[in-house]
Amino acid sequence: MHPNTPALKSFIPVDPSSDFPIQNLPFGIFSTRQSPELRVGVAIGEWVLDLAQLEKMGLLTPCSQPVFNKPALNDFIALGQSVWRSTRAQISLLLRDDHARLRDDAELRASALIPMHEAIMHLPIMVSGYTDFYSSKEHATNVGSMFRDPANALLPNWLHLPVGYNGRASSVVVSGTEIRRPMGQMKPPSAEQPLFAACAKLDFELETAFIVGANTALGESVSVNDAEEMMFGMVLLNDWSARDIQQWEYVPLGPFNAKTFATSISPWVVTMEALEPFRVPGPKQEPEPLPYLRQSGDHSFDIQLAVELQTAECEQPTTICNTNYRAMYWSMAQQLAHHTISGCNLRVGDLMASGTISGTQPDSFGSLLELSWNGQRPVTLSDGQTKRSFLEDGDVVILRGTCIGAHYRCGFGAVSGRIIPALIGS
Ligand code: MN
Repeated sequence: MHPNTPALKSFIPVDPSSDFPIQNLPFGIFSTRQSPELRVGVAIGEWVLDLAQLEKMGLLTPCSQPVFNKPALNDFIALGQSVWRSTRAQISLLLRDDHARLRDDAELRASALIPMHEAIMHLPIMVSGYTDFYSSKEHATNVGSMFRDPANALLPNWLHLPVGYNGRASSVVVSGTEIRRPMGQMKPPSAEQPLFAACAKLDFELETAFIVGANTALGESVSVNDAEEMMFGMVLLNDWSARDIQQWEYVPLGPFNAKTFATSISPWVVTMEALEPFRVPGPKQEPEPLPYLRQSGDHSFDIQLAVELQTAECEQPTTICNTNYRAMYWSMAQQLAHHTISGCNLRVGDLMASGTISGTQPDSFGSLLELSWNGQRPVTLSDGQTKRSFLEDGDVVILRGTCIGAHYRCGFGAVSGRIIPALIGS
């Protein structure tokens, strides 16, 4: 049976509210206090299945060399789509309630199943390169309206190509990593001269990202129709942004220090195969793109997304944004085709982010810049009093993403990060 079959059940009880039923099986990198070596695991309900252990026992053999006793998923990802799929099918079988091998072997279960609360999650991939797109029409329109002209919010290129920039791979961190408020150069509207200070307009950006699963040669491009089979899976991504630094530095070459201080990703990589049942049409593209970007069929995904903000003042976190990936104007395949049309080569472990995901409603905007309209209308939090225009020290931002089907949900878990104070004067 295909691992996405809704009727499949695991011998491990999985609560219906869990993001990780047997139909998901996302991959991550974990360790435990008792066994500190980093290795590959798969999430199932409240448990982590240790693939390095299964590989050692000969129950999984994706390659003649071990690929699961590794500190990153890259070696496994490099094996390609058919191996990703056959491995996921084998894992599904081992976890099924009608399959005895793992279910009835108490010793094997004890060595290969780790309670999720004991697992320390690490960055799932060695990030080869990081690219951030800007593919939400609503987000681009909001930002263009705020900083330029509501009548001409989209720049002339926006409807013709997926705008993006090359970000910084070295500062991609896993969920839970503290985010230090950056220092930087800025020129507030009231200042005559630029100054060096701690960022006063620290923001999050709600994004997803896909992970490239193939190497290509320099000079070659990937056609839009071949692009999807080169994607291993998706994560949630918070593209932390220093708006005051960004506004001063970004002309003419785009963001630099405003984005390079940190980018957080969720620890579990949801495979494109697991997302397949949630495929939906994207928005109609008008004007029609150039031929190298043209696609037919459904190339978006129904992923419900939310942002929670937890502050020291409030006991409960406040959900400050609810939106959905499905309305993204440019598809991931178009982003990949555009990225390589120049001959830019891809590497396994390249991280390609969607751009901030905003909907049409004011409570569906994917950044505080938009939610507070650049500070003009601060967001009120759950205690009814605390307000935020931008992030303060101690604030925790949590992004969540889930696909909800008729029979099960298939989720990403969360990516969170707490803001810690700047290193003033350094
Ligand atoms: Mn971004």
